[in-house]
Amino acid sequence: MLQPRRWCSFSHLLLVLFVAALFAISQLQSSCKARETAPAVSSVPASPTNLPPSPPPTTTDTPPVEQGNFRQPELIELIKLDPTIKLDIRYATANNFVGRPLYTEARAFLQKPAAEALKRASAKLQKQGYGLLIFDGYRPWAITKLFWDVTSGEQHNFVADPRKGSKHNRGCAVDLSLYDLKTGQEVPMTGAYDEMTERSYPTYKGGTEAQRRTRDLLRAAMEAEGFRVNEYEWWHFDYKDWQQYPLLNFSFADLNH
Ligand SMILES: [Zn+2]
Repeated sequence: MLQPRRWCSFSHLLLVLFVAALFAISQLQSSCKARETAPAVSSVPASPTNLPPSPPPTTTDTPPVEQGNFRQPELIELIKLDPTIKLDIRYATANNFVGRPLYTEARAFLQKPAAEALKRASAKLQKQGYGLLIFDGYRPWAITKLFWDVTSGEQHNFVADPRKGSKHNRGCAVDLSLYDLKTGQEVPMTGAYDEMTERSYPTYKGGTEAQRRTRDLLRAAMEAEGFRVNEYEWWHFDYKDWQQYPLLNFSFADLNH
């Protein structure tokens, strides 16, 4: 009679241990899942106050390797080519959607043919009373990766996927607006630079008539010189030959010449 009872106790103990192990595994799985599905940032529009200070990396730390024959990069500093150009390099200040300076130098570069096309657009706009106000030109790939990491959801419409890189990384995209030559003041547009809302769309029908007019004037001048506006950002223009240049990751300090 002892043997069956001992066996019964032993099997009962095994059953209890088994149930306890199952419970522990299910708890572990649910906590791992929660970490996987937790968003990096909230889905509300980005602002300095709701972005995490140390976002988790989502891609590798090096630019993707590209195959093909690329032209030799020749990045030109815009204000040296056209002194009428004004700079407001937001990524060298805390006044940007990340909320802290990302560039150590407030400078803007483009590949030479793009820079020369920009100068021609600038000359035409000056006849109409406007100068070019540059927010950004060539952007090191590492900064594009950082933008991706601190945004999520629909915000990714406004930043480039670092696995493909940005045309800014090729020195063939420029972010800009207009300033009034008489007052030196930035011209109001339908939305603010880097605003992640529909007001940034170049087709946005809202805002004032004057805002839409100057937005469309900038677009017409740029597109006449081989640039094309981004479908989500009135301020972003890609130069037509961007595919001829490789993704670059030089810092501005590397470009001193
Ligand atoms: Zn841009």
